[in-house]
Amino acid sequence: MKFESKTVHIGVCTDHTGALSTPIYQSATFRHPALGQSTGYDYTRSLNPTRKILEDGIAQLEEGAAGYAFSSGMAAVTAVLMIYKQGDHIVIVEDCYGGTYRVVDKVFSQFGLEATFVDGSNIDEVAQAIKENTVAIIVETPTNPLMKIVDIRAMIELAKSTNAHCIVDNTFLTPYFQRPLALGADIVIHSGTKYLAGHNDLVCGLVVAREAELAEKIKYIQNSTGAVLSPNDSWLLIRSIKTLALRMDRHNANAIAVAQWLENHPAVKSVYYPGLDKHPGKSIHDKQATGYGGMLSFTVENAKRAADVLEKVKLISFAESLGGVETLITLPAVQTHADVPVDVRERLGISDCLLRLSVGIENAEDIIADLAQALD
Ligand SMILES: *Cc1c(COP(=O)(O)O)cnc(C)c1O
Repeated sequence: MKFESKTVHIGVCTDHTGALSTPIYQSATFRHPALGQSTGYDYTRSLNPTRKILEDGIAQLEEGAAGYAFSSGMAAVTAVLMIYKQGDHIVIVEDCYGGTYRVVDKVFSQFGLEATFVDGSNIDEVAQAIKENTVAIIVETPTNPLMKIVDIRAMIELAKSTNAHCIVDNTFLTPYFQRPLALGADIVIHSGTKYLAGHNDLVCGLVVAREAELAEKIKYIQNSTGAVLSPNDSWLLIRSIKTLALRMDRHNANAIAVAQWLENHPAVKSVYYPGLDKHPGKSIHDKQATGYGGMLSFTVENAKRAADVLEKVKLISFAESLGGVETLITLPAVQTHADVPVDVRERLGISDCLLRLSVGIENAEDIIADLAQALD
């Protein structure tokens, strides 16, 4: 079955009632048929039928052995980090999601998980960061907010050479555009809050492991620590994923149109979008993904101008988050990346002139018209 058909058919119900939509099993506990017997479901933290449909569905889309659903993207990131132990070392891209930076730098450091932050687009720098105790290389591509491209295959090779896992946060592109496990990565993480849920109305996270043995470790952490996705929210995410392909195509087409328009605007200094021909990572991106997604960043001449844009937008909302049907704009230096140390932020180019757009699925002409009046 092709990808679009798989998304639509996640959770199509086949029970005796004939219901098409999957039921929401809003039950904390499950009756045992007899002593020593189980229906397969005992208690919802361990396993819930609605959540299981979602978990099997995302595993199928990402081409992994098994998937797990969490109450947020950060709960998913945390569950993955918890498979490691004190004295282990990870290598992670420095321009990762701000919350991921914070949990690694401020929380897991307290438990003795060592980390080196690197420029993931510089393969030599990543290779040099690897130590004897390196257990994982964690990447995002495109990165947030500067849309740098990381060569997933090169990261997999580096990880293999040292017996470490290669972990990819695939939030920005989703399995519709990029499937890291099929390339050989070990784990994929999602903030499902973004494109998978897609409507700015749900907070959730997902993890998929390529092999069953590693999947079991994630499952053990999920059950032991308990940040599971509720049956209701699992159902909403199943419902959302059915339109993933349609939405991603429109996000992609709109972002290309907006990026090209911004490139030619006199008030815009630079545009960061992997779909632009001049993007330095485009050729690598084209080898590992089939679309560019809906995220782009751009700079204006000064902080005042950036603040003006945020104030003047009408159709576009000045709000954090991304990946929903509505177009959002944000100032990463002050919002999403406030917890990244100032020196790192400055080195990365996350200045107060940098605006990040999550291009929605409105008509592109309306998005461009709103940006035109805001940049005037
Ligand atoms: C938003 C985001 C997260 C965190 O997800 P939440 O659902 O907000 O907890 C992790 N990684 C990336 C790339 C994100 O954009």
